[in-house]
Amino acid sequence: MSETIFSRIIRGEIPSHKVYEDDKVFAFLDIGPLSQGHTLVIPKEPAATLDQLSDESSAAIGRILPRICRAVMKATGAASFNVLQNNGKDAHQVVMHVHFHIIPKFGPRGLEIDWNPGPFDHAAGAELARKIAAAV
Ligand code: AMP
Repeated sequence: MSETIFSRIIRGEIPSHKVYEDDKVFAFLDIGPLSQGHTLVIPKEPAATLDQLSDESSAAIGRILPRICRAVMKATGAASFNVLQNNGKDAHQVVMHVHFHIIPKFGPRGLEIDWNPGPFDHAAGAELARKIAAAV
């Protein structure tokens, strides 16, 4: 568990443009927006990455996230959006407190994805799926 700027935002020690709050979740506008309406939805629990988040906070985020997406779409008029969730430095995470980005897409404004799919080996895939399933 780590103390980051987001814990201070939740406590109101650093100002934010809040759009939602309940006992487990806080949401506010990103100050480095990729597009108008770029919003961050965070658990109040200070877990660094999603794999470390409790079931209770995960459920609370899952319950409210679609509603905040709808509100962002309604307020900005965007018809498309991405939800982005980075975990770890190599995956572009800068603030080590779990957060979901809601990023409206307006033409070129919004999230640009460099998506380079590779080949799929079914034998290796079957083994990997077994390993992941056993670990869940
Ligand atoms: P990530 O790269 O996924 O860790 O994203 C962190 C996000 O936090 C970035 O998009 C930042 O613009 C945003 N951010 C950092 N500090 C603040 C702040 N004080 N208020 C709002 N958003 C912030």
